Amino acid sequence: EIEEVAENSGLMYPLDIGARGSSTIGGNIATNAGGNRVLRYGMTRDMVLGLEAVLADGTVVSSMNEMIKNNAGYDLKQLFIGTEGSLGVVTRAVLRLREQPRSQETLLVAVDRFEQLPELLKVMDGKLGGTLSAFEVMWNEFYCLVTTEPAQQKPPLDQTYPYYVLIEARGGDSETDRARLESALAEVFEAGLVRDAVLAENEAQRRELWAMRDDV
Ligand SMILES: Cc1cc2nc3c(=O)[nH]c(=O)nc-3n(C[C@H](O)[C@H](O)[C@H](O)COP(=O)(O)OP(=O)(O)OC[C@H]3O[C@@H](n4cnc5c(N)ncnc54)[C@H](O)[C@@H]3O)c2cc1C
Repeated sequence: EIEEVAENSGLMYPLDIGARGSSTIGGNIATNAGGNRVLRYGMTRDMVLGLEAVLADGTVVSSMNEMIKNNAGYDLKQLFIGTEGSLGVVTRAVLRLREQPRSQETLLVAVDRFEQLPELLKVMDGKLGGTLSAFEVMWNEFYCLVTTEPAQQKPPLDQTYPYYVLIEARGGDSETDRARLESALAEVFEAGLVRDAVLAENEAQRRELWAMRDDV
């Protein structure tokens, strides 16, 4: 629901978790859910500006801050984020919405060795100039499971590689963002960090790549 409300105002709530569509804001806050875009937007902790909670004895703790920068005193809301309801029930929250990205590019790459993954992340993060929004590593067993019947997706890349990474960039200009991603891809190929890759050509392909990750 929050996603719909945000979208209607041209904004977005960046939390993207497996339980999207069924989980509640209270549950997201209580578990400090991170999700697929944690690299770019942080965890739920980073999306909550303020909240109200009710303690076991009925005391209402109100910390409905609306500012990003508020460095005065104790940050009481943090006590209720990620503590699974053990200190109180969250009854209201002020969420930080973000601008909708104007472009989204998704890339799947195959990687040979585990040690190459941090290097790949480093190069991608550096080359993508702040637009890197997801870097989801999938082990071979997982990849085979979600790309073999009865799973619905077909393998976009051969099933023989040890690791696969879904990489997403969300930016402000589709032409330059695409060119930047292609240039980053060329660099990691040249450096021998990836063995094979597929870059989504359109929104349908982009969704198909993400469907693999979600099909757990
Ligand atoms: C510790 C933890 C971390 C998770 N991190 C991720 C993640 O990074 N990515 C991902 O995809 N999924 C994650 N999940 C799974 C799923 O996204 C979360 O469980 C989901 O956000 C929970 O939302 P829900 O509404 O289904 O809550 P529920 O499953 O109903 O409850 C989850 C917990 O939150 C408490 N709770 C619920 N509502 C409130 C409230 N209003 N006030 C106080 N406490 C409340 C419950 O008591 C319970 O302890 C995580 C689960 C847990 C347990």
